[in-house]
Amino acid sequence: MTGYGAALSSQDLKKYKALVGGEQCEASSGETIDMICPSTGLPFATIPRCSAADVGRAVSCAKTALASSDWAGLSAGERGKRLYRLSELLTQNREYLAQLEARDTGKPLAQGYGDIDAAIQYFAFYAGAADKITGETLPIGVDFLAMTVREPHGVVVSIVPWNYPMQIFARVAGAALAMGNTLVVKPSEDACLTVIETANLALEAGIPPGVLNILTGLGEEAGAALSYNPEIDFITFTGSLEVGTMIQSAAARNHIGCTLELGGKSPQIIFEDADLNKALPVIKDCILKNAGQTCSAGSRLLVHQSRWEEVVDTLRMSFKSLVSGSYEANLDLGPLINAAQVRRVNAFCDQAEADGVALIGEGTIAPAAPSEGYYTTAKVYGPVPIDHALAQDEVFGPVLSLIPFRTEEEAVRIANGTPYGLVAGIWTKDISRATRVAKAVRSGQVFVNTYGAGGGVELPFGGVKKSGHGREKGFEALKEFSVLKTIVVNHA
Ligand code: NAD
Repeated sequence: MTGYGAALSSQDLKKYKALVGGEQCEASSGETIDMICPSTGLPFATIPRCSAADVGRAVSCAKTALASSDWAGLSAGERGKRLYRLSELLTQNREYLAQLEARDTGKPLAQGYGDIDAAIQYFAFYAGAADKITGETLPIGVDFLAMTVREPHGVVVSIVPWNYPMQIFARVAGAALAMGNTLVVKPSEDACLTVIETANLALEAGIPPGVLNILTGLGEEAGAALSYNPEIDFITFTGSLEVGTMIQSAAARNHIGCTLELGGKSPQIIFEDADLNKALPVIKDCILKNAGQTCSAGSRLLVHQSRWEEVVDTLRMSFKSLVSGSYEANLDLGPLINAAQVRRVNAFCDQAEADGVALIGEGTIAPAAPSEGYYTTAKVYGPVPIDHALAQDEVFGPVLSLIPFRTEEEAVRIANGTPYGLVAGIWTKDISRATRVAKAVRSGQVFVNTYGAGGGVELPFGGVKKSGHGREKGFEALKEFSVLKTIVVNHA
């Protein structure tokens, strides 16, 4: 592969294709989008710029594949075998895919490997789970046999963001395919190459043509047209609140279901008895992972006032030692995804500093980092007023906000005091307090003396409030990607 300093001529850019009906294809317009490596700011590949004109064909291929019963008509065990085969093919291609994911998203190589490993686990998990989802029998009377069965929705649309393309695609595709749906996936125009590669491997794994279609393109073109298409049966969207709102109204117009996996401003709470040696490394990792561009990043740290100085001193030192650099350099954090994201993150920090919020500690950018790359430093601020943008809004960058509190009630009030509710972390040795607070915090997941930003394929994941609705991951996703039918037989 090309070293991170090298510019490629337009003929040298690798041309990735969309995948529709089992065939690799260009956009009908012939237009393409350059894929920019965030570490260098330089293009290294292109994808087709599919538009509304291409959406109809992709949906119709998915409908045809659904009707043919080549996939939904297989036994659940057979679908599982083919998904497992896909996980094996990903394992064989792990090295290539990890490099590609890191180059495409900017995340340090070690995180690229981690993301491919997670994707392998998703497909393996759903391969094994495919034949474990069962219905119930219902005792309505001696002359009746009443039962519930789970059926696929039909054609499922999945719209995927750029921050974890491989993981988010795998968690959706694994579960939706296990239940017999067919899929049209619109990955992000900012990072999507591993998704395309995986869909091609799916054909090799025996997932029939048309079952898994990848439509590349811009959100406002291909994504919008896909979400409004009247022939689709279900949408799952992971991304911003703003676009999620549009997706929900598109789903409402079609009277179909949707799951929304949106943003977060997840709190981690350090009580007076917390083990800081255990807590602070985890807290630091969870805001640095993917340079803070993680929906479940623990971006607010609520600290009991009795531990304030200790926490501030430790984080000041550790943030000062953090270095941002190219994905290949594999440092503490990589670049952000694009220039707009750098401007957005810097604007939050500039505003906070103009408002007098103290910068506790800041990392550096490696001198060898290419000058056109989208780098920013890791920063920790505090005390951050609870109504300040830095304490309320999703920054989506490596910025941690510290907020002091005095009582358990106050900690819960602050934790619940944003529009979001995705994940929360509680650090205490008091099991009664941990349990009370876990119940009082409004979020989709709560971790006690650990934190799992994105972790655990087995763990149902999703939000409350403006973090979205519906659950992915674990067995819950299989329910989300299927519909329950009740059958009643009068056998008298
Ligand atoms: P985004 O909403 O801009 O884009 C997400 C996807 O939607 C992309 O594929 C994009 O092309 C598409 N899109 C954009 N406009 C569209 C439109 N009008 N119609 C249909 N599709 C459209 O989000 P992003 O910037 O890619 O991702 C960052 C956001 O995603 C953050 O808010 C983050 O918290 C959230 N996120 C949530 C989760 C989760 O599981 N809860 C996971 C990752 C990211």
